Amino acid sequence: MNSITLSKELKMKKEYDVIVTGGGVAGVAAAISAANNGKSTLLVEKSTILGGLATLGLINLFVPLCNGRGKQIIFGLCDKWVKEASLYGYDTIPSLWKNGEPNEPTLKRYTNRFPPYIFALQMTEDLLASGAELLYDSVATEPVMDGNRCVGVVTHSKSGMEFYGCKMLIDTTGDLDVMRSAGVPHTAGENFATYSCKQISLDGCKKAAESGNIRDAYSSIGGYGASLWGDRQPEGVPKWSGLTAEEVTDYLVTNQMVMLEKLKATESERNSRDVAMIPHMPQFRTTCHLNGDYTFTVADAYRHFDDSVCAINDFEHRDYLYEVPLRALTRRDYPNMATAGRSASASGYGWDVIRVIPPAIITGQAAAEAACQAIDEGCAIADVDIRRLQAKLESENVMVHFPDEYVPDDRTVIIHGKNAAEIEGGHL
Ligand SMILES: Cc1cc2nc3c(=O)[nH]c(=O)nc-3n(C[C@H](O)[C@H](O)[C@H](O)COP(=O)(O)OP(=O)(O)OC[C@H]3O[C@@H](n4cnc5c(N)ncnc54)[C@H](O)[C@@H]3O)c2cc1C
Repeated sequence: MNSITLSKELKMKKEYDVIVTGGGVAGVAAAISAANNGKSTLLVEKSTILGGLATLGLINLFVPLCNGRGKQIIFGLCDKWVKEASLYGYDTIPSLWKNGEPNEPTLKRYTNRFPPYIFALQMTEDLLASGAELLYDSVATEPVMDGNRCVGVVTHSKSGMEFYGCKMLIDTTGDLDVMRSAGVPHTAGENFATYSCKQISLDGCKKAAESGNIRDAYSSIGGYGASLWGDRQPEGVPKWSGLTAEEVTDYLVTNQMVMLEKLKATESERNSRDVAMIPHMPQFRTTCHLNGDYTFTVADAYRHFDDSVCAINDFEHRDYLYEVPLRALTRRDYPNMATAGRSASASGYGWDVIRVIPPAIITGQAAAEAACQAIDEGCAIADVDIRRLQAKLESENVMVHFPDEYVPDDRTVIIHGKNAAEIEGGHL
């Protein structure tokens, strides 16, 4: 038998105003925001804890939320979570930033390395308090389309195959799984060889006992350790898009075997250390993004957008400020679907700027606010009354436009040795 045809009638199990697929930080922010708007909301998550790469993937660092001169840029739900992530565990928030923006300019940036699993539990508490419903261990597999309008999603779980209806769908799978299956135009990325786990050792435990901070008990171990820029990418090892089961498996097996070889080669006594945490999702940075109504690039630095939904800062460089237009989360020809976080419409280093944890949270919040408003206004997400949306986001402590007084006299933007203004489309 060379092929099979699947045909099965599925009754709609339940209908929601908003379905969010993927419970990474962007998806949790979106689901909470939708539920807080009084909309019936379902969050579908394929794993068994919330947070995606930030928790499951062991990427437990809020990169800077500030401009590198002592001014905070990213607020909203992110401002709450950067502190909440560490409420019941360790933090690394610089003391200058512990009580919010410092009184004096400082080069010290506002970041936080947090305990990933405690943050996941905290997000779960926040999600449940919002009234959003949650389905764990459930994969959103197929969008159900009526033309270009999404009327629901098919999930696979212990319950089998099920169909949930929705008025709005927000795809925060990180990989654009649902919108991609709906035929929404997208671009695939490439990923360097990065596989980072956490090791615990007797030496680390001694260090932690001396410092009184359990964080010191952990150190890094893993497979290949290529950087964001591809430094240390081993020769002959392919880059992965991460969009097929074979590629995901190849990436995991390759890196896990490299880690095993490192363990075999280690001189420390085997009773003296253990692998404490392994990422339970592939650590791919950029798998797939929406080709949205606008593609965000670094050439957009210091540019104000009329339809900005949030101001964000560059995590690697001081000063560089950006605004994210609603159009980077939508496509007008798919009226009731939007994305946020890692799969927002961006390219080159612009994709790196927009995909990290703080912008992922804020774009999740913004996508949900826009989707809820679209229900109320009876229009496409891309067509909501933008002033009303911006006012709502501002009422939730989101900085929609960066203040011009934060823009330096020298507006040159150099990314990895190249001038952003000269990089066609922002591509590096
Ligand atoms: C190696 C590496 C280092 C990084 N370093 C940092 C850093 O130091 N600081 C920082 O701020 N950012 C960092 N990032 C980026 C950051 O972690 C992520 O981009 C961000 O967390 C993305 O959030 P997200 O919610 O958009 O997507 P994800 O975190 O990818 O969440 C997607 C969620 O959707 C679920 N899902 C996927 N498919 C489906 C489906 N079909 N159905 C249901 N659920 C599904 C997944 O299980 C997951 O929970 C790093 C990323 C990598 C890979």
